[in-house]
Amino acid sequence: MPKGAEVLVVGAGILGLAAAYFLARRGLPVGVLEREAPLSCTTDKSTECYRVFWPGDEALGSLVARSMELLEPFAQVARPNRRGYLYVGQEEALLALAEAAPHAGPLRVHRTGASYPKEAVEGLDLLREEGLREAFPYLAHARGMAGLHVRKAGWLSAQGLGMALLEAFRELGGTLLPGEFLGVEPRAGKPAYARVRRGEEEALLPFAALILAPGPGLLPLLKALEPALPVAAEPHFKAWFPDPLGRFPREAPLLIWNEPQEIFAPEEKALLEEDPSLRPLLSPLPPGAHGRPEGGGFLALYNPLPRQEEPTSCQPSLPPWASEVALRGLLPLLPGLRPYLGTRARVDGGYYVRTPENRPLLGPVAEGIYLLGAFSGYGVMAALGAGELLARWVAGEPLPAHAQAFVPGRYRDPTYRPNLEAARAQL
Ligand SMILES: Cc1cc2nc3c(=O)[nH]c(=O)nc-3n(C[C@H](O)[C@H](O)[C@H](O)COP(=O)(O)OP(=O)(O)OC[C@H]3O[C@@H](n4cnc5c(N)ncnc54)[C@H](O)[C@@H]3O)c2cc1C
Repeated sequence: MPKGAEVLVVGAGILGLAAAYFLARRGLPVGVLEREAPLSCTTDKSTECYRVFWPGDEALGSLVARSMELLEPFAQVARPNRRGYLYVGQEEALLALAEAAPHAGPLRVHRTGASYPKEAVEGLDLLREEGLREAFPYLAHARGMAGLHVRKAGWLSAQGLGMALLEAFRELGGTLLPGEFLGVEPRAGKPAYARVRRGEEEALLPFAALILAPGPGLLPLLKALEPALPVAAEPHFKAWFPDPLGRFPREAPLLIWNEPQEIFAPEEKALLEEDPSLRPLLSPLPPGAHGRPEGGGFLALYNPLPRQEEPTSCQPSLPPWASEVALRGLLPLLPGLRPYLGTRARVDGGYYVRTPENRPLLGPVAEGIYLLGAFSGYGVMAALGAGELLARWVAGEPLPAHAQAFVPGRYRDPTYRPNLEAARAQL
């Protein structure tokens, strides 16, 4: 190992900082290399929601559950609430979702609202039509629909958690190094130095272990390191609308429309058909529109036409229809939002870096080099469990059962069968 070598983490997003914190807690010398401001890339664009509910994926359920256990010392700054996620749709489909997530705790079925435990902190509550109407009167118009209220779930402060991790990491002796990671330089046939640009200069930093946690920067880095890994970047957007009419219930959980939908009326379609870029939006669109109250307004998210692109920065280009589609997606849940069509929203977005089965790349990829990436739409909620797991890999400690589900080498195993069906059901 070269003299002065430390554990080098590339990327000061929520995942890089979580790993750096757990590595430093083990007494290892750790530096985090970052080319922008810490926590300013994808982590800054998150909806900040969490759920210990992963239909069809026990391993992800177990990773996020561990994250939530590790949140305890950071609870004052991360301020997680326990409002839950409320999926609204056909009872049969909701029941199938619930049955595919035995790790999420007991399933309670309610015909009416009388037996519904409003303040429950875990488990799944399936509210049949009448029960949904009684427990959530503002959804009473959703005729024929049921609700699945999922807990432990809610939202938290990603910036609060990230800043607390950075502070704790520094207190443990860790250092934040401004600079851009360019590649790996071997010595005696082994990866040993990180080639780094700092200002106008290039330098070689020796490392004992290298952790790549670069968010959307993973794609260009993998081209040099492990081009066969199936990873892609999808732009995802969110829109914040002010709510001067008070139409989004302030006390609501995260609301999710679990049915396919058409977002334009026939007369609107006739007008829009002229524009080829809008035509795909005129067909029935998949489930998944969701939203929650935020500040004096609400967040709306709906990405019905996922596409892939090569990220050149943290911020994908926004389609002109992003906010309107997100708002229309919520109308089956809250038709009272209709007057906001055409109002100005604050829109931003980032990349879901993801694998086909939506599981992360977490573990060794070459001698002394580890990946901590492809956390799609769940990197905030999984950060602590993932950071701890990465530190276990580096320190050579025993690994939990879910670790093997995330190793980058899984695609080389001819018996590995990615569960693409489960991935489709995730937000
Ligand atoms: C619209 C949207 C909503 C989301 N909602 C949720 C949610 O509700 N809950 C949830 O858990 N997750 C959510 N996510 C996902 C979550 O935000 C991400 O999974 C997570 O933030 C990824 O963190 P990261 O640390 O991997 O990446 P980032 O936050 O992108 O950090 C990576 C860092 O690496 C740096 N970097 C990259 N390349 C280099 C290089 N070569 N040299 C030096 N530095 C480099 C970058 O500058 C950046 O600071 C959402 C994402 C989006 C886009």
